[in-house]
Amino acid sequence: MAGIHEGVRAYVEPRESDKSLAARTRATIARTFETLAGKAEEPLRELIAGRGASEGPPLDDLATLSSVAAGDAELASAVALNEAQWRHYLVMIPSMNVARKEVRALLASRLTDVYAEGYDLTGRYYTGTGPASVVEDLACRRACEVFGARFANVQPLSGAPANVAVYMALLREGLSEFRVDREGNRTPTENYEAHPADRVLALGLSDGGHLTHGLFLNFSARFFDFRHYGTTEDGWVDYDRMEEMAREMKPRLILVGASAYPRDYDYARVRRLCDSLEPRAYLMVDMAHYAGLVAAGLLRNPLAEGADVCTFTTHKTLGGPRGAVILTNDEELHGRIRTALFPGLQGGAHFNNIAAIAWILGFARTEEFRALQERIRDDAKALAEGLRKRGIRLSSGGTDTHLILIDLRGQGFTYGSKGKEMNGRQASECLERSGLIINRNAVPRDSRKPWVTSGIRMGTNVLAARGMGPEEMDQVADLIRRALDGGGDPDVEAAVRSEVLALTDRFPITI
Ligand code: PLP
Repeated sequence: MAGIHEGVRAYVEPRESDKSLAARTRATIARTFETLAGKAEEPLRELIAGRGASEGPPLDDLATLSSVAAGDAELASAVALNEAQWRHYLVMIPSMNVARKEVRALLASRLTDVYAEGYDLTGRYYTGTGPASVVEDLACRRACEVFGARFANVQPLSGAPANVAVYMALLREGLSEFRVDREGNRTPTENYEAHPADRVLALGLSDGGHLTHGLFLNFSARFFDFRHYGTTEDGWVDYDRMEEMAREMKPRLILVGASAYPRDYDYARVRRLCDSLEPRAYLMVDMAHYAGLVAAGLLRNPLAEGADVCTFTTHKTLGGPRGAVILTNDEELHGRIRTALFPGLQGGAHFNNIAAIAWILGFARTEEFRALQERIRDDAKALAEGLRKRGIRLSSGGTDTHLILIDLRGQGFTYGSKGKEMNGRQASECLERSGLIINRNAVPRDSRKPWVTSGIRMGTNVLAARGMGPEEMDQVADLIRRALDGGGDPDVEAAVRSEVLALTDRFPITI
């Protein structure tokens, strides 16, 4: 296989472990690769050989958008507005990040056209899937390397299906003992004894957990029996309560990790708890939000601390494309999870995303990545400090991660002429008009509905990617305080907005 990158060649070369069918598939794919390498024109041939790297212009250059606009002006307009918003506003939603040009290029590659159901080079249903298999293998190997795992599955289309696949693989679905309504009232279900679902102990949505951690409307709560351990009043995971509940309800799985929790976790304590139960419970960690910080060694690594399974999304702190990965060190669990995901839950995986996941995981091995993750964390700490010194109360008092949760209750922020206390929804809209995109969020013991909430959540992924540091975080804290103090006053919002526009001009997105 001359003229092909040596790593690709190695992946396709014959293996002793192959059974005869697999050996034939492998040989066919090798022949295809050879033919293509011989036939391709320059510069594709150079690239196939592993040469031909060059620094191109950034991909989001407006030429692409102009060519779309020639045939579809309406769509181009909306996309251009989004581009402008990212350029000129401070996007501070902690689940968002800016994908680099390499990630966006790979998303736009022809891998988007490929169907390659199955796993591994010789385990696909269709022919023509050799290149996609190479890409997937790279993504898996890099995921294992970066997180110190033995096995990785990179096919989940996003974080929610990754979690569902793990539940399907590890738990027995059935009837929950109770049906839970919107207010949290429990009604015993009929016939539970005949079809009991496995129990899971997790952090509920109102305490920072995710929908897939047992929200009553979600698949997770409909097919499995979720209970929630909650946080203390000041916003820390309540491990004592977790232990108390676990001894009483004997969960099959304890789930740690959340969407709106700013602190690291005591995995070792939860591991001990899981091991002390009879039967032993699984420890699953959903590090969707903070995987980038774990990859850079800035937060504890759940697998190293004893998690049986770990899921994460690739588009939050990690900064890759939308997607998710499931990690485990247990071969048997890995096999069950594979089958649960495909064919159990999903059809064809998205190989353009998987290529971009492979890229970001390659980038995660570099010093540049580590420095960026450090900046994300340091910026979050500086922003938290800036808010605290301006008298703003934060849930748990601060952050270990990229994420900050402001508790608006009893802080004297009012909205509108009647002087009523400002809620999360009003605060997020007031900040948007001031040029800052953050999200409303429930805070511990929140009595307001999820659509309203008493808090706001923000993160520093994008600000760090723009190159902003602690000094700018102090300025951002000041802008937030002034916007909230304004209580909806248009003059205050306009003044803050013009400072945001000046700040974003000073720190353009260049990646
Ligand atoms: N798990 C957690 C903790 C999350 O925060 C999220 C998304 O915000 C998910 C899972 C689901 O990810 P996705 O939106 O990619 O399905």
